[in-house]
Amino acid sequence: MSDSYYAGFDLGGTQLKYGVIAASGQLVFKDKAPSPPDITRLMTLIGSIWEELEQRFGQKIKAAGFGFAGFYSLTKKRILYSPNYQTLNNFPLVPQLKRVIPVPFFIHNDANLAAFGEYMFGRGQLVQSLVFLTVGTGVGSGLILEGQLWQGRGGFAGELGHITVNPEGLLCNCGNTGCLETEVSAPALVRNYLNFSGKREKQLTAKDVYLRAKSGDGAARKSFERCGYFLGIGLSIVINLLNPEKIIIGGGVMDSGRWLLSPAIAEAKKRSIEVSFALCRIEKASLGNDAGLMGAAAWARHQLNRGKALTSPGSKK
Ligand SMILES: [Zn+2]
Repeated sequence: MSDSYYAGFDLGGTQLKYGVIAASGQLVFKDKAPSPPDITRLMTLIGSIWEELEQRFGQKIKAAGFGFAGFYSLTKKRILYSPNYQTLNNFPLVPQLKRVIPVPFFIHNDANLAAFGEYMFGRGQLVQSLVFLTVGTGVGSGLILEGQLWQGRGGFAGELGHITVNPEGLLCNCGNTGCLETEVSAPALVRNYLNFSGKREKQLTAKDVYLRAKSGDGAARKSFERCGYFLGIGLSIVINLLNPEKIIIGGGVMDSGRWLLSPAIAEAKKRSIEVSFALCRIEKASLGNDAGLMGAAAWARHQLNRGKALTSPGSKK
């Protein structure tokens, strides 16, 4: 049995996923719970999960990583704004987490840590530069450049979901219009289908649109083509800007595979510098829902070894 373990928490608007990796990187435990609606109950939940982890692993968990949905400020050490989980907005995370987490811990944006997870354990291994994207109810992303998670000046780097791909597009949660997220996400796919088909179906999901595309429904196929078109525009922007080795795409909508990816790659190829496109591999992510919690745990291991703890055992602050 390993002597050192690292815990990872991945908090989204609907679920808190958590797990533990061994020092070797092997995922040895994982579980999930519904995200509580308010912050006090969230802190209580994290405290009780910690007790559960201590029962399993004793004092061997050396550090914890937390990926939170939202704009996490590296300087203010809090989420300035979380569009999909607003109870986090401006909450003093560090002092409150110190009350329930007795080991050094590290916080970052959830998609940045998922990018780090794919880099350490998934399709991003052995590359030096990658762009990670997750296409689900929203679009999250993170960048690894020269083998490092690129954080930006304030910690807000990698928000590819909020670059403009359609200047005439709809209003986004972030306040901008026509973001990649408003054109390429589960709600966008459903909206496209209702527009193309002229139908009025209230409970329609992105998975329904996928199943209809597979069975030959023309409106469903056009819906994917429209999402793929805008995704391709987004991909061409990062290819031309960064000349990355890999772009890794995960998330629920990517479960549709080629229906989204084929039109996206075709559009990206059309709009990218040819030599840069030729060097970039575009692949489906491999860790699925574990990318975030594994990335958070690996980030904790990585930062602990660099001496970047937000707190330390026995800290009185
Ligand atoms: Zn936006």
